[in-house]
Amino acid sequence: MNSELRDFVMEQPLFSHHDHHCHFKDFEEERLQYDAASLLGYACADLETAAGPKLHEQQSVREHIGTYWPKISTTGYGQAVTIGCKALFDLDYSADNFRAITEKLQSTLSDRSAAEVYDYFVKDRANIKWVLQDGYFAPGNADLLPREMYPDYYRFAWRMDELFSITDATPIELLERETGITVHTLDHLVKAMNANIDKFIETGKLAAFKLGIAYSRDLVIGDPTSHESELAFRRIRNRKSFHHGIQQNAGSVNALEARSLADYMIHRLLQRASDEDIPVQIHTGYLAGNWGSLAGTKAMHLLPVFEKYRQVRFDVFHASWPWTSELGAIAKNYPNVYPDMCWVWAMNPTESERTLAEWLDGVPFNKIFAFGADTGLPWCNVGYAIQARLGIARVLEEKVQKRFFSEATAKEVALAIMLKNGEEFHRVEPKKHVEQADTPDENSSSFRR
Ligand SMILES: [Zn+2]
Repeated sequence: MNSELRDFVMEQPLFSHHDHHCHFKDFEEERLQYDAASLLGYACADLETAAGPKLHEQQSVREHIGTYWPKISTTGYGQAVTIGCKALFDLDYSADNFRAITEKLQSTLSDRSAAEVYDYFVKDRANIKWVLQDGYFAPGNADLLPREMYPDYYRFAWRMDELFSITDATPIELLERETGITVHTLDHLVKAMNANIDKFIETGKLAAFKLGIAYSRDLVIGDPTSHESELAFRRIRNRKSFHHGIQQNAGSVNALEARSLADYMIHRLLQRASDEDIPVQIHTGYLAGNWGSLAGTKAMHLLPVFEKYRQVRFDVFHASWPWTSELGAIAKNYPNVYPDMCWVWAMNPTESERTLAEWLDGVPFNKIFAFGADTGLPWCNVGYAIQARLGIARVLEEKVQKRFFSEATAKEVALAIMLKNGEEFHRVEPKKHVEQADTPDENSSSFRR
């Protein structure tokens, strides 16, 4: 094994393309509750799986953590917990140590402000230089914007899945409240969506749009006419009309009928992304938690969208696991697709190594994003970051061993996929980086959104 290359990768700062960290206010509210179980992150879902069908309340699974933790310590989710706990507290993650882990975690938190906690775990311990944060730039959160809720190296993705999988008037009413625009027509709805996005763009920290719709619908995005969409809009906006003799005052309208409205709004979002060169992040592949419906989540469903919106830069998440080879082929074929390994190292480290090795054989390395912790608490980033670095190092060592490329090239690849590609894609670094990128851009001396 080439230890110098490994050291290089282990010390290389990361761009976290995707995270869900709670904001400072939520952190402060929970500050005293964080315990050893808070290190579990995604591993809670594996505990559910290990417990089998009879235990399916998370509460009861946590009560049986001593029984099921050993069964899941071997999975990628489990390994990340072990790695993080060892690195942070020099303790094995086991039921015997839970008390000691909680004490060490609490003592790390106790003498630090929220901002210092995030700096300590994310910047110092996980060595993450930039974080792309999901979920905070959302319609209901606009009033939080004047407050300092995240460190200054965080950028944000605007997300409103409820609009893009709409089944009743709730998201329309939310946009009305947030924008003051009364929505009587489909055009009003588009105007209200864009007005809400404007509020977030004004912060200078909006980096992308996010589509997480795979959690509520399949990724087959039709291209309905405005007439079809008007019909769906009218149905949702006229609840007092009878449909098959029933008034749907509160319940969802027929989701299938609403579909053309959801698809229409996705196209309006993509149109804006295209006009203003705002990247679009899309969840594809495996779903967090348990019982998710995987069948509709393949990146392959998105080909018509990639083809139609050629000017939009698509950041395609989670390596589309378990369809990682398909995403590699898509990324090789479509110049506007950037395959992203956020979260996938934890889901399946072995397949992640195979995936990165395979992608490097097929996809230009300036297009690959190697990391995103995709987690809610800053200390979980430490385990996920080390886990990813170990995998990346092994893949690159093997490439050098097999003489696919030199060690110098391996370092260049590591720097690109771990940090530089993200900085260039999201334009967070000074102009010199951007000038080297393939994407032409005249006005990129600083971060513009
Ligand atoms: Zn996520």
